[in-house]
Amino acid sequence: MVFFDRDAHVQFFAGFLVRGLSADYLGQECNTLSLAYFAISALDILNALNQVWNSSCERWNFDRRVDPDLRFGFLGSRSTYVSRDSSYDGGHLAMTYSALAILKILGDDYSRVSRNAIVRSMQSLQQPDGCFTPVHLGAERDSRFLFCAAAICTFLQDWSGMDVPLACDYIAKCQSYDGGFGLCPGLEAHGGATYCAVAALKLIGQSAEKGITGIDFPLLTSWLLQRQAVTGGFQGRINKAPDTCYAFWVGASLVFLGAYKLCDREALRLSLLSCQNKKGGFSKYPDDDVDMLHSYYGVCGFSLLNEPGLESLCCELGISARAAGDFDMGSDTVKFSYLEEETPD
Ligand SMILES: [Zn+2]
Repeated sequence: MVFFDRDAHVQFFAGFLVRGLSADYLGQECNTLSLAYFAISALDILNALNQVWNSSCERWNFDRRVDPDLRFGFLGSRSTYVSRDSSYDGGHLAMTYSALAILKILGDDYSRVSRNAIVRSMQSLQQPDGCFTPVHLGAERDSRFLFCAAAICTFLQDWSGMDVPLACDYIAKCQSYDGGFGLCPGLEAHGGATYCAVAALKLIGQSAEKGITGIDFPLLTSWLLQRQAVTGGFQGRINKAPDTCYAFWVGASLVFLGAYKLCDREALRLSLLSCQNKKGGFSKYPDDDVDMLHSYYGVCGFSLLNEPGLESLCCELGISARAAGDFDMGSDTVKFSYLEEETPD
């Protein structure tokens, strides 16, 4: 009988931290900080961070990435640093999110983080339509980076760098005719984009009195529930194959709506187990190679399924509830579930 192999997963993520990037990941060197976030947050959720911290994390030198003179936040890796005076240098919102998440998981108090510089720089990245671009030189712009900005505001407990009503207006425009959210207005509904939209709304609700209007939540819930395929896994879009990572993107969105209990959790569990590797980690599809992203969100999926021994999640921030504890999530959030509140089993 296949079971959730916690020990193998601990070895998988701890091994990544000890060894660093393997040849398989060289193409993702610029995203090193996000890969580290996957490994460290996974170990936290697996209740295994203490087992590996002293021996493995020194090599990552997280503190050196906190550069108060760098106006725009965190870089994904050292190779993306040009020079201090270069106009090409600047932080990336997704990397700043990853860095602050890692620091939060590790219990850091952000005293070495240049909070004001991050908030002011982030402010300059918000576009006239309310969306965010990740870097100051201009790039893709969509709700992924709006989510990152909302999470950064929450981590730093400072919302002065975001025009919240404008951001909410952008999110509302991203809802598709079928209920899910696209990355931008007019785009096809997508599970990851839907998570970014709804999680950002949850985070914004923590600090804003209101801001959630013009969204069809019953249609959204219906769209999310229909993403569970007959094999039990969640798909990201209509007519796509189920994919491990949507156990979190779609699952967490259902949690926000109080509707996670309406999906077939046992079928989802079996589907995720079909993507579990014997050496630890998860693949996107059954019998595929494992990767850090799908391994992390596979673990998150099992946390949502209340796997014994795993930490519960703060779905809005993408870290464990333990790590997010002092944000007091949920006490002042805007309630947008039209269903009854989710009750733990
Ligand atoms: Zn995926």
